[in-house]
Amino acid sequence: MANIIDGKVISAKIKEECKEIVLKLKEEEKTVCLAVIQVGTDVASSVYVKNKIKACEYIGILSKTYELPEETTQDEVLQLIEELNDDQEVDGILVQLPLPAHMDENKITQAISAKKDVDGFHDENVGALVTGHKGFLSCTPAGIIELLKRSQIEIEGKHCVVVGRSNIVGKPMALLLLRENGTVTICHSKTKDLKEITKQADILIAAIGKPKFFDETYVKDGAVIIDVGIHRDAHNKLCGDVDFDAVQSKVSAITPVPGGVGPMTIAMLMYNCVQSAKRKYKID
Ligand code: NDP
Repeated sequence: MANIIDGKVISAKIKEECKEIVLKLKEEEKTVCLAVIQVGTDVASSVYVKNKIKACEYIGILSKTYELPEETTQDEVLQLIEELNDDQEVDGILVQLPLPAHMDENKITQAISAKKDVDGFHDENVGALVTGHKGFLSCTPAGIIELLKRSQIEIEGKHCVVVGRSNIVGKPMALLLLRENGTVTICHSKTKDLKEITKQADILIAAIGKPKFFDETYVKDGAVIIDVGIHRDAHNKLCGDVDFDAVQSKVSAITPVPGGVGPMTIAMLMYNCVQSAKRKYKID
């Protein structure tokens, strides 16, 4: 039977660590503050924003929320970002995606100062990841590295197969595994013989956005499976990109959905905010 990698427990630990740092900063009258911008009323986005604010409250991070109407212009959002970039109190700025169709997501995410880009989407932070320099890391892949390390799963020398090459999950995930000395293969929708490659993985990262796509025929005996996908199945139950029931008896460790990768994303966002404040106050 596989070990279940418990994202709830590990993310709670990271949040406790953040809380402790924020408390110490408070004793010196130093604050940590996250600004969250949401445009429109997408239901899923509202839930994500609410959860992020809740996590801030729990840790003691101040938050400034901007709920802007759907018809807000791109220039208005850019203007707000500029003000927040200049606001000394603000350590992190987050624009909840997706944005309405009349906005250029890339232009907006790149307008956020790289020093406050706690989502790790700015080209400067992505570049730092490529070159191995300090910068903000994209929260989901950074959370996965924490899940592996804190579960004592060795990455060095392992064949890590990442399926998915998006800018927010697949690509930074592959780079982070490489940084940890994994031997990395990246697969995508044009990959031939996907199964032949995933069956060689010691660590398989499934991030394609297709419910229960990876069954037991895609995995090697004893592999570690990280499931990034989040979906609702035909019975409205949450599930991932991996068919959990089909693979769990074959693999050595696996993240469940829910309760695996999901909670780590918010925990790492909180971690990035705290890091940003520490940099501002020149604490290392
Ligand atoms: P994207 O849709 O941006 O990327 C999907 C990637 O999967 C693409 O690179 C695509 O290839 C590849 N792909 C799609 N179908 C196949 C296939 N049949 N075989 C091989 N590769 C395939 O998704 P994201 O990276 O943003 O997210 C992936 C999943 O993770 C989603 O379910 C999303 O909801 C979830 N997610 C979960 C988070 C969490 O906190 N748990 C955070 C972020 C995302 P190509 O490039 O060729 O099109």
